[in-house]
Amino acid sequence: MREYETVIGLEVHVELATKTKIFCSCSTAFGAAPNMHTCPVCTGMPGSLPVLNKQVLEYAIAVGLATNCDITRYGKFDRKNYFYPDNPQNYQISQLYLPICRNGKVEISDDEGNKKFVGIHEIHMEEDAGKLNHDDWDDASLVDYNRSGVPLIEIVSEPDMRSATEVINYLEKLRMLIQYLGASDCKLQEGSMRADVNLSVREKGSDTFGTRTEMKNLNSFTAISHAIEGERERQIDILESGGQVVQETRRWDDVKGESYAMRSKEDAQDYRYFPDPDLVPVVVSEEMIDEIKAKEPEFRDAKMERYRSEFGIPDYDIEIITSAKHMADLFEETVKLGADPKKVSNWLMGETMRLLKEKGQDAQDVKLSPVHLAKLVSMTEERQLNNINAKKVFEAMFEEGVSPLEYATEHDLITVQDTGALTAAVEAAIAACPKAVEDYHAGKEKAIGAIVGQVMKAMKGQADPGEVNRLIKERL
Ligand code: ADP
Ligand code: MG
Ligand code: ZN
Repeated sequence: MREYETVIGLEVHVELATKTKIFCSCSTAFGAAPNMHTCPVCTGMPGSLPVLNKQVLEYAIAVGLATNCDITRYGKFDRKNYFYPDNPQNYQISQLYLPICRNGKVEISDDEGNKKFVGIHEIHMEEDAGKLNHDDWDDASLVDYNRSGVPLIEIVSEPDMRSATEVINYLEKLRMLIQYLGASDCKLQEGSMRADVNLSVREKGSDTFGTRTEMKNLNSFTAISHAIEGERERQIDILESGGQVVQETRRWDDVKGESYAMRSKEDAQDYRYFPDPDLVPVVVSEEMIDEIKAKEPEFRDAKMERYRSEFGIPDYDIEIITSAKHMADLFEETVKLGADPKKVSNWLMGETMRLLKEKGQDAQDVKLSPVHLAKLVSMTEERQLNNINAKKVFEAMFEEGVSPLEYATEHDLITVQDTGALTAAVEAAIAACPKAVEDYHAGKEKAIGAIVGQVMKAMKGQADPGEVNRLIKERL
């Protein structure tokens, strides 16, 4: 068999985190009853007129600057015409001729960990469509226009990626840049980031591209990896058996592990694009660009570099903490309040990640208060809470945002500082466990555990196990 190279280019849609829609003032909030967030503009009523939301433009420019694009100073919107019930105007307002950003690039790592650039062909602004709910029970389809007019940017890469790893590294890079900018939460599972994968194969060493297919709406990194592997093999099989790859849109079924053809590839002319006469051209001034540039946050790479020198915590911790800007902010604010960086990091990496996973949440959703976290760290340092109780308090802080001191007091979790009570409990436990004492004296160090257990029980968990250990040994 000949050796093949995979060639991949991505079209990534990102839902922007604006409060209102792109061309009207309807709310973009998720989860409302169907069609509650609608008006004549976003339901395509005749005579209604769109007006561009300035925040959309600012986010699009910010993403363009972060991905090293040229910003178009005089841009336009175009109508992409097609009929579908989730698209009430029968056209989508998008940008074809003069997208807001062009010619960018982002740096990623390849499979060997070497740096390489992925080119950004363009970024354009457009509106999202509504949502069809197919009701098999009633044999009907209902349409919900709440999502109609939610702002999107589409980031179109050059065909510069060569493997699933590179694709995932590229998506992760985009996700971090955009999330740090606050332009979107970029959640693949929830659809605020969606990737279409264009893939072709060619013989190794060839300098012309093969015919590509496009796989739409893959909603997890694993589905993307599987789809790339599956499509690469399918195309190689076709070529090896003397056939030709057909340019088409395919749907990847991650459960079955195979893809099937959806439709032949449509061209720009199929959409009869033309400039939208209802919208004025987008004029971007130097001042506007300077202002957006000035508001740029510290991005993840720079932050990681700084954490290394400033906090002296391991790279592994830094990776996790900076994997969401919200988590990094929480970390920094807690440390600013005087908490030890490594101890804060331990809470974030350990219990926080565990609870997030358990609840299927994202690091962006953490609602811990830095003040509470700093207090919890100091309570453990001062031995007011043992490990077990500290975790109980943490869980309550994580779930209900309670104050650690109040919660621990209310639930009798604070370590009893009264040495009299503790000594009494230790002595009683020693007296109650003659067998353990005997074993301990016979050289079985571990036998002491039974006595510690007794004391902890007598103290209702409100003792410091280290201290209990010490007191027992002193008496044995
Ligand atoms: P269209 O306008 O038909 O959608 P584009 O030229 O805009 O096509 O390309 C869409 C995406 O497909 C881009 O991300 C691009 O990098 C990618 N692409 C183009 N040609 C190939 C190819 N031969 N193999 C893999 N990806 C490709
Ligand atoms: Mg395209
Ligand atoms: Zn509206």
